[in-house]
Amino acid sequence: MNEAQNPPESDNSQENSSTESRDFIREIVAADLASGKHGGRVQTRFPPEPNGYLHIGHAKSICLNFGVAEENEGGRCNLRFDDTNPAKEEQEFVESIEEDLRWLGFDWGQRIFFASDYFEQLYEYALELIRRGLAYVDSLGAEEIREHRGTLTEPGKNSPYRERSVEENLDLFARMRAGEFEDGAHVLRAKIDMSSPHIVMRDPTLYRIRRAHHHRTGDAWCIYPMYDFTHCLSDSIEEITHSLCTLEFENHRPLYDWVLDALETPCHPQQIEFARLNLAFTLLSKRKLMRLVTDGLVDGWDDPRMPTISGLRRRGYTPEAIRAFCDLIGVAKRDSLVEMTPLENAVREHLNRIAPRYMAVLRPLKVIIDNYPEGQVEEFEAINNPEDPQAGTRKVPFSKELFIEQDDFREEAPNRKYFRLAPGREIRLRYAYFITCTSFVKNEMGEVIEVHCSYDPESRGGSSPDGRRVRGTSHWVSAAHAVPAQVRLYDRLFTKPNPNEVEEGGDFTDNLNPASLELLTECMVEPNLRGLEAESRVQFERQGYFCVDRDSSSERPVFNRTVSLRDSWAKIEKALMG
Ligand code: ATP
Ligand code: MG
Repeated sequence: MNEAQNPPESDNSQENSSTESRDFIREIVAADLASGKHGGRVQTRFPPEPNGYLHIGHAKSICLNFGVAEENEGGRCNLRFDDTNPAKEEQEFVESIEEDLRWLGFDWGQRIFFASDYFEQLYEYALELIRRGLAYVDSLGAEEIREHRGTLTEPGKNSPYRERSVEENLDLFARMRAGEFEDGAHVLRAKIDMSSPHIVMRDPTLYRIRRAHHHRTGDAWCIYPMYDFTHCLSDSIEEITHSLCTLEFENHRPLYDWVLDALETPCHPQQIEFARLNLAFTLLSKRKLMRLVTDGLVDGWDDPRMPTISGLRRRGYTPEAIRAFCDLIGVAKRDSLVEMTPLENAVREHLNRIAPRYMAVLRPLKVIIDNYPEGQVEEFEAINNPEDPQAGTRKVPFSKELFIEQDDFREEAPNRKYFRLAPGREIRLRYAYFITCTSFVKNEMGEVIEVHCSYDPESRGGSSPDGRRVRGTSHWVSAAHAVPAQVRLYDRLFTKPNPNEVEEGGDFTDNLNPASLELLTECMVEPNLRGLEAESRVQFERQGYFCVDRDSSSERPVFNRTVSLRDSWAKIEKALMG
């Protein structure tokens, strides 16, 4: 099922979204506000773990968390780094996450927090659990703990250390913190129920000994709290009302609630799960994206083929398009696979409105207009954006020698429906003249290298002088004025809708699309495309939307194709996805 085929009904839901809810989460929030459940407050948080760059799946969670806060008066959304896992987290990721969030257009003001800032408080909470007889230090090894846990069909077994006294537990836990024991010698566990049908409730580990340098707390700690203990308490410390997370945490909710009920905490936030975004032909797992980066299978986290926010940005996506996509797919309770098409349509739709048009020839073929005066240059006025009258016009130089696309010429017109250039055929050069092909020249390899034409001086500006019809229009660039450019054409990173589907013994990298990047180095673009700032987004007429890459120089601009004008994948995708 494609969620995108069932977009939420109205677009004007923004205005009155607190009364008319767009999804089940907004309904819950509205009902809670009405009943005064959380004291009439709405406080959400976006809690990334700084162990990679943000991806489009995170954007869904960001739009939801910040969106719900924004839509409700006095609502707030915290940015909280969930940094309890010292080995995998880095400052680079913290910075990239902040940058991507800001670029997406979200503002957390002063409300930025780190779970690691709560380490001391969390430790105090752990001591309190011990004092209440609700936690104990276990000295079984990791393997034994696993064996004792049981299975879905068999209950677990109590650890022989489960009945340690409060005093002994307090003493051991303090010495764990003080660094008296080896990594793995002991753990702190909640004392819940080893035969609970919820496996997470079978005395889950709360703390482990781990001598690892932490990106913020340095070497201050050698014990680190586990996610399930940290997250609910961090939510409570920040007085979160609605803790929105993805479905894989549904099983953890009993533990989330248990910890908060077991302790005296500032408040008891409500965990609500929603389906994570799965996007066809790509992967949304930081671990796997990391693998692509570290194995050099892509050109960094911001490779324009990556589903990361920074990759989409370098590809030419706009924050508006990403947010529109998140709005369109909505939020649901069941898992689904969303096609690429709605994401691409979102960026097409936005760029169609804002991107200035230019002429760029990607695979040039020389055209010589034999009857055009040598050395003459005319300037034609071209419309910058037909969708935006404010965008105005620009001048494009025209001369005797031009480039057109190789694709716009054939040695022989295949049939009467072929409207491009061929011997004896007449076409329009956009904004300029009608030209008729008279002959062509080939090299030794049999490739056409030069096409000769005549032009009709009466068709100046590209309009018919006598009502005769010309069906084909080509874009072009004057050879004398052309700027050489490099263009990168991107395609799907993976060849399968679900790249995790692999042969036995294989892995997801087997499904990488070997043709995901096509580099065109011989492109010729109109002179107005020289010197544009990196990240400028443009349309190349008849081809697609492109974005100036930071690798550009003033002599040689580099463009990344964001998306083609039309969706050539829609049909293929339908077939592949069934
Ligand atoms: P990954 O598997 O990519 O590492 P994660 O869930 O471990 O994802 P976090 O940094 O912990 O990544 O996620 C921060 C927030 O973003 C969490 O609330 C998480 O549920 C949410 N999130 C992550 N991936 C998705 C997704 N594909 N769709 C929607 N929300 C997501
Ligand atoms: Mg995670």
